[in-house]
Amino acid sequence: MNAAPERHLLVLAGGGHSHVLVLRRWLMRPHTRPPRTRITLVSRHGTALYSGLLPAVVAALEPLEAAAIDLRRLCTLAGVTFVQAEITGLDPAARELRLAGRPPLRFDRLSLDLGAVTATAGRSAEGAMAVKPLEPFLAWAERRAAGEPLVIRGGGAAAVELALAFRARGIACELLLRGDGLHLGSAAANRAGEGLLAQAAIPIQRRAPAGAPADLACTGSRAPAWLAAAGLPVDPGSGRVLTESSLAVIGHPALFASGDCGLIAADPRPPSGVWAVRSAPVLAENLRRSLAEPARPLRPWRPQARALQLLGDGGWRAAGPRALAFYGPAALGPSVWIWRWKQRIDRAFMARFAALQPMAAAAMACRGCAAKLGAAPLAAALGRLDPGGPPRPVEDAAVVGTGADGELLLQSVDGFPALVDDPWLNGRLTTLHACSDLWASGAAVDSVQALVTVPEAAAAIQEELLLQTLAGVRSVLDPLGAALVGGHTLEGRDGAGLVLALTVNGTVASAAHWGKGPLRPGEVLLLSRPLGSGVLFAAAMAGAAAPAWMEALLEGMQHSQAPLVPLLAAHGCRACTDITGFGLLGHLGEMLDASGAGVAVELDAAAIAAWPGALELLERGFASTLAPANAAALALLEGPVRLAGSAALAGLLIDPQTCGPLLAALPAAEAPAALDALHAAGFRQAAVIGRVVSPPGAAAASPAPG
Ligand SMILES: Cc1cc2nc3c(=O)[nH]c(=O)nc-3n(C[C@H](O)[C@H](O)[C@H](O)COP(=O)(O)OP(=O)(O)OC[C@H]3O[C@@H](n4cnc5c(N)ncnc54)[C@H](O)[C@@H]3O)c2cc1C
Repeated sequence: MNAAPERHLLVLAGGGHSHVLVLRRWLMRPHTRPPRTRITLVSRHGTALYSGLLPAVVAALEPLEAAAIDLRRLCTLAGVTFVQAEITGLDPAARELRLAGRPPLRFDRLSLDLGAVTATAGRSAEGAMAVKPLEPFLAWAERRAAGEPLVIRGGGAAAVELALAFRARGIACELLLRGDGLHLGSAAANRAGEGLLAQAAIPIQRRAPAGAPADLACTGSRAPAWLAAAGLPVDPGSGRVLTESSLAVIGHPALFASGDCGLIAADPRPPSGVWAVRSAPVLAENLRRSLAEPARPLRPWRPQARALQLLGDGGWRAAGPRALAFYGPAALGPSVWIWRWKQRIDRAFMARFAALQPMAAAAMACRGCAAKLGAAPLAAALGRLDPGGPPRPVEDAAVVGTGADGELLLQSVDGFPALVDDPWLNGRLTTLHACSDLWASGAAVDSVQALVTVPEAAAAIQEELLLQTLAGVRSVLDPLGAALVGGHTLEGRDGAGLVLALTVNGTVASAAHWGKGPLRPGEVLLLSRPLGSGVLFAAAMAGAAAPAWMEALLEGMQHSQAPLVPLLAAHGCRACTDITGFGLLGHLGEMLDASGAGVAVELDAAAIAAWPGALELLERGFASTLAPANAAALALLEGPVRLAGSAALAGLLIDPQTCGPLLAALPAAEAPAALDALHAAGFRQAAVIGRVVSPPGAAAASPAPG
């Protein structure tokens, strides 16, 4: 990382093969990074797929994970902000990259490595599944059942290799060709490919009519249409952006393009992962030169004219997989040795990303809500502040006044060092987290003030960080009709990063105001969504959280819990809290403190949902840095909280949560209808996790009215 304040914004659009190698280079050799530059990578998914292994994934020779590079983690390790978003356009004059559902990203330099999409428009394969983008195709491919025949349109390497891969899964394929033969790059390659298909009993229909129906289109590729729409110079046939030999876009020195979406005008090469990979060192070097002060001349590059192509047969024979090798006019194979060679190359490529060390991640403290103090120092400080004074308030939001119509005015304040590097997403998550204090009180959020600390950097970078952060805040408030009414900004010194804290104001009718208690026997406890965000973020820093787990967690955390308030109110909720830094047991303990000695809680371990991967990580010994401070709450399990079922969940019960669930007490009779309503509103994992009872030996308390 650069010690000096940042002055430039570099945006990498797309997590393609060139960009992942550029990131790896910056991680392994930090001195090759562009100096004093804030770098952001935007991509549709948290993983980048390595194309060489895809047919093996389709053939079920390799799991999908074997072909997936953890882009989110790679960015974190390389000190690059990862933004998961759909790019929808580009304004080269304003230097803005447009994203779906959020503000555009400003840049001083932009590098495009977005790959291509299947060229199906206006072709007979219209309506067929497109092989690109890859993720929906792979999901579709996984669902294809053995015995379900498949017609593939296309005669290139992808069509041939996929037909063989499906064949290996017992799916009979047929290839539809536009012309007379395959187009694998040479006559020898075409002959070898046809031979392989014939051995696998895959029929070829030549000169197939344009309207012949097909299930899958492998019909060549085109660069995304918005590149041409942005006014960039493109190749008319393929839509690929035309570049100089330096990879700078012709006529646009602030823009670079590589991989399938770019084409060096003087040395055009077919779209292929090989050239995307080979261009990475040149791209990294020229991005650095372009951002040097003063800028240095860019390095020209002449890509190799030919590339080795290895084509696997999916292993449809009992004797195991084989492969063909093509280079220039020559073709070799099929042979088991070529397959092993291909396998070694593919695995070696992926090993370059698997072996990356997570810097000092294991020792890094957790962010988000886990960055808070434990309960003990706060209680002790408040006790010393006001010795002998009234007990400290424990409610989620403070009542700060009464409105003209008698409604209560509520206020809460919350915030923490950025949970995620993406300032927009961080703004959104911090706001959802802060608002949940009011939602747990039964209140509607009316207004918010923001205190934003941005790192030392050039004014334009600070402006961009502020814009993205505040837009993330507004993305939560606008649908609620709530306003961002003010705030303050600070510059963090001594390398401090982005910190966002929010004061949240709202109102609630006095009769509809929920406290944390009292809980009453006869009530059940409803948890609105899963637990486990603390351990997942902790494991992600150590590189131990699977990309799919983080994607599911971040997706789930972004769902606003505002709709819960009227639903819970309609079903008789009288006490509620939100599960945050102290974990479920800590916050349940607060509910019990607010309930007197006459109640106990029986938890149903099996009903407590965890985010994907959380329990596995806890079992493997991962924990948030705040979890040990929360462990004191486990003493509740010896007292008023009984855990019916396994105690293996203990770690989950003290896991600190950011954007955690609401825990609401409802009359038992209301629970089925309340659950139906919550599930219908999208809170599909909401569940009754326990019931409020009289402690053993206590005089029977009057049950909660229904
Ligand atoms: C079945 C199959 C097998 C193949 N096998 C090989 C092989 O063995 N060897 C080989 O060299 N080539 C192979 N290819 C070709 C190879 O897939 C491409 O040439 C290669 O992936 C191009 O890499 P890239 O860096 O240009 O982009 P990609 O690797 O395609 O990556 C582009 C990235 O940008 C993201 N993205 C795209 N659009 C947007 C958007 N609008 N918003 C946000 N993110 C976006 C995508 O999600 C993706 O992560 C194969 C292709 C297929 C279909």
